[in-house]
Amino acid sequence: MSQRNIHTQSVAGQAVQELFCRALHHVTATHKDLLQKGGTAVAGLSAQGRPGDPVTPAIVPSSVYFLPGDPAGPYQYARWTNPTWSALEEALSILEDAEAVIFPSGMAAEAAILCSLPKPGDRILLPSDAYYTTRVLADTYLVPAGIRVLTCPSANYDSQDFAGLRMVWIESPSNPGLDICDIRKAVAKARQAGAIVVVDNTTPTPLGQRPLDLGADVVVSSDTKTINGHSDVVFGHVASRQAGLIAGARDWRKLCGAIPGPFESWLVHRGLETLEVRFERMCGNAEALAPRLAEHRKVQQVKFPGLPSHPAHAVAKSQMLRFAMILGVTLSDKNSAEQFINGCKFIRPTTSFGGVHTSAERRARWGDKVPEGFVRLSVGCEPLEQLWKEMKAALDSL
Ligand code: PLP
Repeated sequence: MSQRNIHTQSVAGQAVQELFCRALHHVTATHKDLLQKGGTAVAGLSAQGRPGDPVTPAIVPSSVYFLPGDPAGPYQYARWTNPTWSALEEALSILEDAEAVIFPSGMAAEAAILCSLPKPGDRILLPSDAYYTTRVLADTYLVPAGIRVLTCPSANYDSQDFAGLRMVWIESPSNPGLDICDIRKAVAKARQAGAIVVVDNTTPTPLGQRPLDLGADVVVSSDTKTINGHSDVVFGHVASRQAGLIAGARDWRKLCGAIPGPFESWLVHRGLETLEVRFERMCGNAEALAPRLAEHRKVQQVKFPGLPSHPAHAVAKSQMLRFAMILGVTLSDKNSAEQFINGCKFIRPTTSFGGVHTSAERRARWGDKVPEGFVRLSVGCEPLEQLWKEMKAALDSL
Protein backbone atom coordinates (compact mmCIF):
# COMPACT_ATOMS: atom_id res chain seq x y z
CA MET A 1 0.00 0.00 0.00
CA SER A 2 1.15 3.52 -0.65
CA GLN A 3 1.05 4.46 3.06
CA ARG A 4 3.93 2.12 3.66
CA ASN A 5 6.50 4.25 1.92
CA ILE A 6 5.05 7.47 3.23
CA HIS A 7 5.37 6.14 6.76
CA THR A 8 8.86 4.75 6.54
CA GLN A 9 10.09 7.98 5.00
CA SER A 10 8.33 10.23 7.50
CA VAL A 11 10.38 12.29 9.90
CA ALA A 12 8.71 10.56 12.85
CA GLY A 13 9.46 7.17 11.32
CA GLN A 14 13.12 8.07 10.87
CA ALA A 15 13.37 9.33 14.44
CA VAL A 16 11.92 6.07 15.71
CA GLN A 17 14.35 4.06 13.61
CA GLU A 18 17.16 6.12 15.11
CA LEU A 19 15.86 5.26 18.59
CA PHE A 20 15.67 1.61 17.62
CA CYS A 21 19.30 1.62 16.48
CA ARG A 22 20.35 3.23 19.73
CA ALA A 23 18.37 0.66 21.73
CA LEU A 24 19.98 -2.13 19.68
CA HIS A 25 23.43 -0.68 20.38
CA HIS A 26 23.05 0.42 23.97
CA VAL A 27 25.86 -1.89 25.09
CA THR A 28 28.07 -0.66 22.22
CA ALA A 29 27.49 2.89 23.45
CA THR A 30 28.64 1.91 26.94
CA HIS A 31 31.73 0.28 25.46
CA LYS A 32 32.64 3.31 23.34
CA ASP A 33 32.07 5.57 26.28
CA LEU A 34 34.44 3.56 28.43
CA LEU A 35 37.05 3.45 25.67
CA GLN A 36 36.95 7.23 25.38
CA LYS A 37 37.44 7.54 29.10
CA GLY A 38 40.51 5.30 28.84
CA GLY A 39 38.73 2.27 30.26
CA THR A 40 39.05 3.65 33.76
CA ALA A 41 35.41 4.60 34.30
CA VAL A 42 33.19 2.37 36.37
CA ALA A 43 31.04 0.11 34.20
CA GLY A 44 27.39 1.09 33.80
CA LEU A 45 24.46 -0.59 35.52
CA SER A 46 24.62 -3.58 33.23
CA ALA A 47 28.35 -3.90 33.97
CA GLN A 48 29.30 -4.31 30.32
CA GLY A 49 31.46 -2.53 27.82
CA ARG A 50 35.08 -3.08 28.83
CA PRO A 51 37.33 -5.05 26.47
CA GLY A 52 36.64 -8.73 27.09
CA ASP A 53 33.16 -8.16 28.49
CA PRO A 54 30.38 -10.17 26.84
CA VAL A 55 28.26 -8.24 24.37
CA THR A 56 25.02 -9.84 25.53
CA PRO A 57 23.60 -9.09 28.98
CA ALA A 58 24.48 -11.59 31.67
CA ILE A 59 21.60 -13.66 33.06
CA VAL A 60 22.00 -12.93 36.75
CA PRO A 61 19.86 -15.26 38.86
CA SER A 62 21.35 -14.21 42.20
CA SER A 63 18.76 -13.32 44.82
CA VAL A 64 21.31 -11.43 46.92
CA TYR A 65 24.40 -9.31 46.21
CA PHE A 66 27.51 -8.71 48.29
CA LEU A 67 26.36 -6.00 50.63
CA PRO A 68 28.76 -5.37 53.48
CA GLY A 69 28.23 -2.54 55.96
CA ASP A 70 25.71 0.23 55.30
CA PRO A 71 23.55 -0.62 52.26
CA ALA A 72 24.90 1.13 49.15
CA GLY A 73 25.04 0.59 45.40
CA PRO A 74 22.48 -0.18 42.71
CA TYR A 75 22.05 -3.88 43.63
CA GLN A 76 21.10 -4.78 47.19
CA TYR A 77 18.31 -7.36 46.97
CA ALA A 78 16.90 -9.03 43.88
CA ARG A 79 13.24 -8.09 44.45
CA TRP A 80 14.34 -4.48 44.08
CA THR A 81 16.85 -4.49 41.21
CA ASN A 82 18.67 -6.96 38.98
CA PRO A 83 21.39 -6.40 36.33
CA THR A 84 19.53 -8.39 33.64
CA TRP A 85 16.46 -6.20 34.24
CA SER A 86 18.66 -3.11 33.99
CA ALA A 87 19.94 -4.11 30.55
CA LEU A 88 16.40 -4.60 29.23
CA GLU A 89 15.05 -1.46 30.92
CA GLU A 90 17.89 0.54 29.40
CA ALA A 91 17.07 -0.73 25.88
CA LEU A 92 13.31 -0.26 26.31
CA SER A 93 13.81 3.23 27.76
CA ILE A 94 15.82 4.27 24.70
CA LEU A 95 13.17 2.89 22.35
CA GLU A 96 10.29 4.46 24.29
CA ASP A 97 12.24 7.70 24.72
CA ALA A 98 10.93 7.52 28.28
CA GLU A 99 11.82 5.59 31.39
CA ALA A 100 10.63 1.98 31.26
CA VAL A 101 9.90 -0.41 34.13
CA ILE A 102 9.55 -4.11 33.33
CA PHE A 103 6.99 -6.57 34.72
CA PRO A 104 6.44 -10.32 34.56
CA SER A 105 3.36 -9.93 32.32
CA GLY A 106 1.33 -7.31 30.52
CA MET A 107 -1.32 -7.62 33.23
CA ALA A 108 1.28 -7.04 35.95
CA ALA A 109 2.27 -3.84 34.13
CA GLU A 110 -1.39 -2.81 33.85
CA ALA A 111 -2.02 -3.57 37.54
CA ALA A 112 0.95 -1.41 38.55
CA ILE A 113 -0.86 1.58 37.06
CA LEU A 114 -4.52 0.68 37.39
CA CYS A 115 -4.36 -0.55 40.98
CA SER A 116 -1.97 2.07 42.34
CA LEU A 117 -3.11 5.41 40.91
CA PRO A 118 -6.91 5.70 41.31
CA LYS A 119 -8.08 6.26 44.88
CA PRO A 120 -11.47 5.59 46.51
CA GLY A 121 -14.01 8.05 45.14
CA ASP A 122 -12.15 8.49 41.82
CA ARG A 123 -13.81 7.84 38.48
CA ILE A 124 -11.94 6.16 35.66
CA LEU A 125 -12.84 5.43 32.04
CA LEU A 126 -12.01 2.10 30.36
CA PRO A 127 -12.71 1.08 26.77
CA SER A 128 -15.66 -1.33 26.67
CA ASP A 129 -14.28 -3.07 23.59
CA ALA A 130 -10.60 -3.46 24.50
CA TYR A 131 -8.68 -6.32 26.13
CA TYR A 132 -11.32 -7.75 28.46
CA THR A 133 -9.04 -8.74 31.37
CA THR A 134 -8.38 -5.04 32.04
CA ARG A 135 -12.10 -4.60 32.77
CA VAL A 136 -12.20 -7.80 34.85
CA LEU A 137 -9.26 -6.52 36.92
CA ALA A 138 -11.00 -3.20 37.49
CA ASP A 139 -14.36 -4.82 38.35
CA THR A 140 -12.71 -7.30 40.71
CA TYR A 141 -10.43 -4.96 42.65
CA LEU A 142 -11.20 -1.31 41.92
CA VAL A 143 -14.98 -1.29 42.15
CA PRO A 144 -15.05 -2.92 45.64
CA ALA A 145 -12.41 -0.36 46.71
CA GLY A 146 -14.82 2.49 45.94
CA ILE A 147 -13.53 3.49 42.49
CA ARG A 148 -16.18 4.16 39.88
CA VAL A 149 -15.38 2.40 36.60
CA LEU A 150 -17.08 3.83 33.51
CA THR A 151 -16.80 2.22 30.09
CA CYS A 152 -17.25 3.47 26.55
CA PRO A 153 -16.45 1.98 23.10
CA SER A 154 -13.07 3.14 21.77
CA ALA A 155 -14.72 4.63 18.68
CA ASN A 156 -16.92 6.87 20.90
CA TYR A 157 -14.22 8.47 23.08
CA ASP A 158 -14.60 11.70 21.07
CA SER A 159 -18.17 12.18 22.26
CA GLN A 160 -17.65 10.90 25.81
CA ASP A 161 -17.73 13.45 28.66
CA PHE A 162 -14.41 13.34 30.57
CA ALA A 163 -15.47 15.76 33.33
CA GLY A 164 -14.63 14.44 36.80
CA LEU A 165 -12.41 11.61 35.54
CA ARG A 166 -9.14 10.77 37.27
CA MET A 167 -7.87 8.36 34.61
CA VAL A 168 -8.63 7.69 30.94
CA TRP A 169 -7.50 4.30 29.64
CA ILE A 170 -7.06 3.91 25.89
CA GLU A 171 -6.29 0.90 23.75
CA SER A 172 -5.96 1.87 20.11
CA PRO A 173 -6.36 -0.10 17.91
CA SER A 174 -8.73 -1.87 20.30
CA ASN A 175 -8.49 -5.54 20.75
CA PRO A 176 -10.08 -7.48 19.09
CA GLY A 177 -12.39 -5.09 17.18
CA LEU A 178 -9.54 -2.86 15.88
CA ASP A 179 -11.43 0.36 16.46
CA ILE A 180 -9.44 3.56 16.76
CA CYS A 181 -9.48 6.24 19.43
CA ASP A 182 -8.14 9.65 18.48
CA ILE A 183 -5.36 9.85 21.09
CA ARG A 184 -4.57 13.56 20.59
CA LYS A 185 -8.21 14.52 21.07
CA ALA A 186 -8.59 12.28 24.11
CA VAL A 187 -5.44 13.78 25.64
CA ALA A 188 -6.72 17.33 25.11
CA LYS A 189 -10.04 16.52 26.82
CA ALA A 190 -8.29 14.65 29.62
CA ARG A 191 -6.00 17.63 30.29
CA GLN A 192 -9.05 19.86 30.74
CA ALA A 193 -10.57 17.33 33.12
CA GLY A 194 -7.29 16.84 35.02
CA ALA A 195 -7.20 13.14 34.16
CA ILE A 196 -4.16 10.95 33.53
CA VAL A 197 -4.08 9.25 30.11
CA VAL A 198 -2.81 5.68 29.92
CA VAL A 199 -2.41 3.96 26.55
CA ASP A 200 -2.10 0.22 26.12
CA ASN A 201 0.28 0.22 23.16
CA THR A 202 0.66 -3.56 22.90
CA THR A 203 -0.63 -3.95 19.35
CA PRO A 204 1.30 -1.17 17.54
CA THR A 205 4.47 -1.30 19.71
CA PRO A 206 6.70 1.81 20.05
CA LEU A 207 7.66 1.34 16.39
CA GLY A 208 4.07 1.70 15.18
CA GLN A 209 2.63 4.33 17.51
CA ARG A 210 4.10 6.83 19.97
CA PRO A 211 1.40 7.64 22.54
CA LEU A 212 3.77 9.65 24.76
CA ASP A 213 4.57 11.91 21.80
CA LEU A 214 0.82 12.32 21.29
CA GLY A 215 0.57 13.60 24.85
CA ALA A 216 -0.30 10.49 26.89
CA ASP A 217 1.14 10.21 30.40
CA VAL A 218 1.83 6.49 30.53
CA VAL A 219 2.20 3.58 28.13
CA VAL A 220 1.61 -0.02 29.16
CA SER A 221 2.54 -2.96 26.97
CA SER A 222 2.21 -6.70 26.92
CA ASP A 223 5.64 -7.69 25.70
CA THR A 224 4.38 -11.27 25.52
CA LYS A 225 3.25 -10.22 22.05
CA THR A 226 5.33 -8.46 19.39
CA ILE A 227 8.11 -7.00 21.52
CA ASN A 228 9.36 -10.45 22.46
CA GLY A 229 7.78 -11.95 19.37
CA HIS A 230 8.72 -15.61 19.74
CA SER A 231 5.78 -16.88 21.81
CA ASP A 232 8.08 -18.11 24.56
CA VAL A 233 7.76 -15.49 27.32
CA VAL A 234 4.98 -13.73 29.23
CA PHE A 235 6.16 -10.19 29.95
CA GLY A 236 5.24 -6.51 30.12
CA HIS A 237 6.42 -2.97 30.72
CA VAL A 238 5.30 0.51 31.72
CA ALA A 239 6.89 3.66 30.27
CA SER A 240 6.47 7.32 31.17
CA ARG A 241 8.34 10.63 31.05
CA GLN A 242 7.00 11.55 34.48
CA ALA A 243 9.40 10.66 37.26
CA GLY A 244 6.62 10.38 39.85
CA LEU A 245 4.66 7.85 37.81
CA ILE A 246 7.76 5.78 37.17
CA ALA A 247 8.78 5.85 40.84
CA GLY A 248 5.26 4.67 41.69
CA ALA A 249 5.50 1.76 39.23
CA ARG A 250 8.88 0.75 40.67
CA ASP A 251 7.53 0.91 44.22
CA TRP A 252 4.51 -1.16 43.23
CA ARG A 253 6.80 -3.85 41.74
CA LYS A 254 9.08 -3.83 44.77
CA LEU A 255 6.28 -3.95 47.34
CA CYS A 256 3.95 -6.39 45.56
CA GLY A 257 6.87 -8.55 44.46
CA ALA A 258 5.47 -8.86 40.90
CA ILE A 259 8.99 -9.17 39.49
CA PRO A 260 10.21 -10.60 36.18
CA GLY A 261 12.64 -13.51 36.08
CA PRO A 262 16.19 -12.79 34.88
CA PHE A 263 15.96 -15.43 32.14
CA GLU A 264 12.67 -14.04 30.84
CA SER A 265 14.18 -10.54 30.90
CA TRP A 266 17.11 -11.81 28.88
CA LEU A 267 14.81 -13.47 26.34
CA VAL A 268 12.85 -10.24 25.88
CA HIS A 269 16.11 -8.31 25.47
CA ARG A 270 17.07 -10.73 22.72
CA GLY A 271 13.61 -10.53 21.13
CA LEU A 272 13.76 -6.74 21.15
CA GLU A 273 16.89 -6.83 19.02
CA THR A 274 14.93 -8.22 16.05
CA LEU A 275 11.76 -6.19 16.69
CA GLU A 276 12.31 -3.76 13.85
CA VAL A 277 12.89 -6.39 11.19
CA ARG A 278 10.02 -8.59 12.43
CA PHE A 279 7.63 -5.65 12.74
CA GLU A 280 8.49 -4.41 9.26
CA ARG A 281 7.76 -7.82 7.75
CA MET A 282 4.56 -8.36 9.75
CA CYS A 283 3.13 -4.94 8.97
CA GLY A 284 4.06 -5.27 5.30
CA ASN A 285 2.42 -8.70 5.16
CA ALA A 286 -0.72 -7.42 6.92
CA GLU A 287 -0.98 -4.44 4.55
CA ALA A 288 -0.65 -6.72 1.53
CA LEU A 289 -3.03 -9.40 2.81
CA ALA A 290 -5.82 -7.08 3.97
CA PRO A 291 -7.08 -6.12 0.47
CA ARG A 292 -6.55 -9.63 -0.90
CA LEU A 293 -8.60 -11.15 1.91
CA ALA A 294 -11.24 -8.44 1.57
CA GLU A 295 -11.68 -9.35 -2.10
CA HIS A 296 -12.06 -13.09 -1.47
CA ARG A 297 -15.63 -14.27 -2.02
CA LYS A 298 -15.71 -16.25 1.24
CA VAL A 299 -14.76 -13.22 3.35
CA GLN A 300 -17.57 -10.96 4.54
CA GLN A 301 -15.43 -8.19 5.99
CA VAL A 302 -11.84 -7.28 6.79
CA LYS A 303 -11.25 -4.75 9.53
CA PHE A 304 -7.79 -3.21 9.47
CA PRO A 305 -6.83 0.39 10.32
CA GLY A 306 -4.68 0.49 7.18
CA LEU A 307 -7.62 -0.10 4.83
CA PRO A 308 -9.38 3.01 3.51
CA SER A 309 -12.65 1.19 4.30
CA HIS A 310 -11.87 1.34 8.05
CA PRO A 311 -14.19 3.98 9.58
CA ALA A 312 -11.27 5.71 11.32
CA HIS A 313 -8.58 5.16 8.68
CA ALA A 314 -7.77 8.89 8.56
CA VAL A 315 -7.26 9.08 12.34
CA ALA A 316 -5.19 5.90 12.28
CA LYS A 317 -3.02 7.40 9.54
CA SER A 318 -2.55 10.58 11.53
CA GLN A 319 -1.38 8.85 14.71
CA MET A 320 0.18 5.54 13.68
CA LEU A 321 3.53 5.04 11.97
CA ARG A 322 2.49 1.55 10.89
CA PHE A 323 -0.90 -0.16 11.13
CA ALA A 324 0.44 -3.25 12.94
CA MET A 325 -0.20 -6.89 12.16
CA ILE A 326 -3.72 -7.77 13.29
CA LEU A 327 -6.58 -8.21 10.85
CA GLY A 328 -10.21 -8.79 11.85
CA VAL A 329 -11.52 -11.22 9.23
CA THR A 330 -15.23 -12.05 9.33
CA LEU A 331 -16.39 -15.27 7.70
CA SER A 332 -19.99 -16.41 7.37
CA ASP A 333 -20.21 -18.45 10.59
CA LYS A 334 -18.41 -20.33 13.33
CA ASN A 335 -17.74 -23.44 11.24
CA SER A 336 -16.23 -21.56 8.32
CA ALA A 337 -14.00 -19.62 10.71
CA GLU A 338 -12.82 -22.79 12.45
CA GLN A 339 -12.23 -24.54 9.12
CA PHE A 340 -10.21 -21.59 7.84
CA ILE A 341 -8.04 -21.46 10.97
CA ASN A 342 -7.52 -25.20 11.19
CA GLY A 343 -7.32 -25.81 7.43
CA CYS A 344 -4.50 -23.36 6.72
CA LYS A 345 -1.15 -24.98 7.37
CA PHE A 346 0.59 -21.66 8.05
CA ILE A 347 -1.84 -20.51 10.74
CA ARG A 348 -1.29 -21.56 14.33
CA PRO A 349 -4.58 -21.91 16.17
CA THR A 350 -3.62 -20.01 19.31
CA THR A 351 -4.77 -17.11 21.40
CA SER A 352 -2.46 -14.08 21.69
CA PHE A 353 -0.75 -12.34 18.76
CA GLY A 354 2.44 -10.71 17.56
CA GLY A 355 4.54 -13.86 17.17
CA VAL A 356 6.73 -14.66 14.18
CA HIS A 357 4.26 -17.40 13.20
CA THR A 358 0.92 -16.32 11.80
CA SER A 359 -1.79 -17.26 14.29
CA ALA A 360 -5.53 -16.86 14.58
CA GLU A 361 -8.54 -17.51 16.75
CA ARG A 362 -12.27 -16.91 16.86
CA ARG A 363 -12.66 -14.26 19.54
CA ALA A 364 -16.33 -15.13 20.15
CA ARG A 365 -15.04 -18.26 21.89
CA TRP A 366 -13.96 -16.00 24.78
CA GLY A 367 -17.23 -14.08 24.85
CA ASP A 368 -15.96 -10.95 23.02
CA LYS A 369 -18.80 -9.05 21.38
CA VAL A 370 -17.88 -9.97 17.81
CA PRO A 371 -19.67 -12.17 15.23
CA GLU A 372 -19.26 -15.97 15.60
CA GLY A 373 -17.34 -16.00 12.31
CA PHE A 374 -14.92 -13.21 13.35
CA VAL A 375 -11.28 -14.34 13.18
CA ARG A 376 -8.53 -12.30 14.78
CA LEU A 377 -5.65 -12.96 12.46
CA SER A 378 -2.17 -12.10 13.68
CA VAL A 379 0.01 -11.94 10.60
CA GLY A 380 3.51 -13.29 11.11
CA CYS A 381 6.89 -13.13 9.38
CA GLU A 382 6.39 -15.81 6.75
CA PRO A 383 7.29 -14.85 3.16
CA LEU A 384 4.15 -13.15 1.84
CA GLU A 385 3.36 -15.17 -1.27
CA GLN A 386 3.72 -18.54 0.46
CA LEU A 387 1.49 -17.35 3.28
CA TRP A 388 -1.13 -16.00 0.89
CA LYS A 389 -1.10 -19.21 -1.18
CA GLU A 390 -1.98 -21.25 1.91
CA MET A 391 -4.57 -18.77 3.16
CA LYS A 392 -6.24 -18.61 -0.21
CA ALA A 393 -6.30 -22.41 -0.48
CA ALA A 394 -7.92 -22.65 2.97
CA LEU A 395 -10.53 -20.03 2.00
CA ASP A 396 -11.17 -21.61 -1.43
CA SER A 397 -11.91 -24.93 0.22
CA LEU A 398 -14.66 -23.56 2.49
N1 PLP B 1 -3.04 -5.77 26.66
C1 PLP B 1 -3.45 -6.34 25.53
C2 PLP B 1 -3.90 -5.47 24.40
C3 PLP B 1 -3.48 -7.74 25.41
O1 PLP B 1 -3.92 -8.29 24.26
C4 PLP B 1 -3.05 -8.53 26.49
C5 PLP B 1 -3.06 -10.00 26.40
O2 PLP B 1 -3.58 -10.59 25.48
C6 PLP B 1 -2.63 -7.90 27.65
C7 PLP B 1 -2.62 -6.51 27.71
C8 PLP B 1 -2.18 -8.69 28.83
O3 PLP B 1 -0.89 -9.17 28.62
P1 PLP B 1 -0.28 -10.48 29.29
O4 PLP B 1 -1.04 -11.65 28.74
O5 PLP B 1 1.15 -10.42 28.90
O6 PLP B 1 -0.48 -10.37 30.76
